Amino acid sequence: MTDHDQVKMTTMNYSKDRPKADNPLKVEDLTFRDGHQSLFATRGRTEDMIPVAEMMDEVGFWAVEVWGGATFDTMHRFLNEDPWERIRTLKRYMKKTPFSMLLRGQNLVGYRNYADDVARAFVARAAENGMDIFRTFDALNDFRNFDTVVPVIKEHGKHFQGCICYSLTEQRMGGDVYNLDYYVNKAKELEAMGADTVCIKDMAGLIAPYDAYALIKALKEAVSVPIHLHSHFTSGMAQMSHLKAIEAGVDIVDTCMSPYAFRTSHPAIEPLVMTLMGTNRDTGFDIKELASINEILEKDILPKYRHLLADTKVSVIDINVLIHQTPGGMLSNLVNQLREMDALDKIDQVYAELPKVRKDLGQVPLVTPTSQIVGIQTVNNVLFGDEKEPYKMITDQVKDLCFGLYGKTAIPINPDVQKKALKGYPRGEDPITCRPAEVLEPELPQAEEDVKGLAVDLDDTLIYTLYPVTGKRFLNWKYGKEQPPDEVKPKTLEDAQAEKELVAKAKAGELLEKPEKETPSKGESFRTFNVFVDDEYFDVGVEEIGGSPVISYVQSMPAPAPVAPAIPAAPAMPAPAAPPTVTPAAPPAPEPAPAPETTVKKAGDVEGTPLLAPMPGMIIGYEKQVGEAVSEGETMVVLEAMKMENALPAPTGGTVKAINFKTGDNVAKGDILCIIG
Ligand code: MN
Repeated sequence: MTDHDQVKMTTMNYSKDRPKADNPLKVEDLTFRDGHQSLFATRGRTEDMIPVAEMMDEVGFWAVEVWGGATFDTMHRFLNEDPWERIRTLKRYMKKTPFSMLLRGQNLVGYRNYADDVARAFVARAAENGMDIFRTFDALNDFRNFDTVVPVIKEHGKHFQGCICYSLTEQRMGGDVYNLDYYVNKAKELEAMGADTVCIKDMAGLIAPYDAYALIKALKEAVSVPIHLHSHFTSGMAQMSHLKAIEAGVDIVDTCMSPYAFRTSHPAIEPLVMTLMGTNRDTGFDIKELASINEILEKDILPKYRHLLADTKVSVIDINVLIHQTPGGMLSNLVNQLREMDALDKIDQVYAELPKVRKDLGQVPLVTPTSQIVGIQTVNNVLFGDEKEPYKMITDQVKDLCFGLYGKTAIPINPDVQKKALKGYPRGEDPITCRPAEVLEPELPQAEEDVKGLAVDLDDTLIYTLYPVTGKRFLNWKYGKEQPPDEVKPKTLEDAQAEKELVAKAKAGELLEKPEKETPSKGESFRTFNVFVDDEYFDVGVEEIGGSPVISYVQSMPAPAPVAPAIPAAPAMPAPAAPPTVTPAAPPAPEPAPAPETTVKKAGDVEGTPLLAPMPGMIIGYEKQVGEAVSEGETMVVLEAMKMENALPAPTGGTVKAINFKTGDNVAKGDILCIIG
């Protein structure tokens, strides 16, 4: 089935100055984007990339992926970091290696198609800020969604990498839809559009090694531009697929530094370097250089992110992907969603329904955002539908898909589902067939108006345009108009160490022990007081440091030490403000954690029917205000959950009596969002 013509042993000299291979394999490193996106929810901070950035620049990567995908969303939402600043900062440390970003076609770095004016401005600003390679994909492989961004990439003299999302309908490549011809035709389409390289984007780790061989071989024959393979490790096949792709002549593959590799991420670079060393595909990389980068990542960086690693499963591969051919992230989203709705027992029904829903919706590839669209609709069908009428609750995104707002699906959408979805659809009941963005009005003028006085430049305005709610909140943090909350602050290595010790103690059953505080050494002004309260005697040491005298230690505590707080955040010294007051007889009960600030009113406070949050999420907005009339089933609240906007219908008709949250608030499942009476 295969030959090894493409890989020959040429030399046995393994030193760094070994002879260059005839056709060295090119490698793109994904550590700074897909690596941490896959393993710890894109929470990697710029400050944790800087310590290795210069060393990474020396390796000889064809490119480093540093931006795009979920980074833009996560940075401004969870990290209080300006996404644009990351490109400029890293560029100061990495001057040789081209920067690559993942661009979701007309979806840019969001979850819907944006208007052309936004797409043009976004790509231009990315290029001007330092982006070199635009890895561009569309969830439906509808390349009309590239029409606006490609000319802007080219005008800026940048590299347009056209992606084909790798998808399956059977267990292996083939069948009526995603067969060899499909991919070859898509690659030719991309080449005709001016793609500088063509990438097979295997986001779910579905590509099997012999399919990779056949596919790369066919693509190398069909198009003349270099072929790039992006394959996630999720199912455990990616390293084998890489090797077969290399034998078939693939030009570029994607890897991560080993601490950021495997699991749902990508194969590691180090074994690949060793595998190809001394062949005509030798990468030329220095394995020792890679090891010294890893040491920093392992010791100084990753401990800060350990708590975010997805789960405690022992296996590093997800065999569900092999069985269900769906992305690992999508399956874990489904499980979470069912768990939050107390319906985890329905998971097998969801697995069974998923292929049906996907086929009804045009056999779309499963990648952001289509994986969420198909996944959430499947859960809705299982929870709210019945045999006669599976589509009882159709999400707004499915309606948009049925209207054609995402583009053309691989096969036509089931006409019955489409008709039902488009009944009363605000843009019209007849679906469009044109390029989706043609029906979208320009968005920038309104956005500029909205953030007048807040946004300083176009980059700011784009943050708001792409993410109106969280983007505006970020701009308020950025310009000091609002105080960022503690949870967006970085965790230090010391925090991580303290947490690790606490976990170890908890495991050893020692959590009741008082956390050890470092006792400061006694200074010159140290004095001891005997303090008597009722029948109890205290030996209190007092020392003045700088300001007022403070109590520095209390001995002979008559009652057991208070239970240690969950996180030993207390400073070693008490706040230097209190005068030496008498300690109360019994140690005060540990300060109870303040009840979370909430504006939820009990249903009893206001008469009426409550609308409960069906799942945790963030309030995008209320469609009706207090005092307004609403009819049953009309959209009352838009809640963002699982990256999707969910329109929550009013449970009954009447007048809005109370609204308990505001735009941007996070809500838990079961929170009363409003009351209608
Ligand atoms: Mn990926």
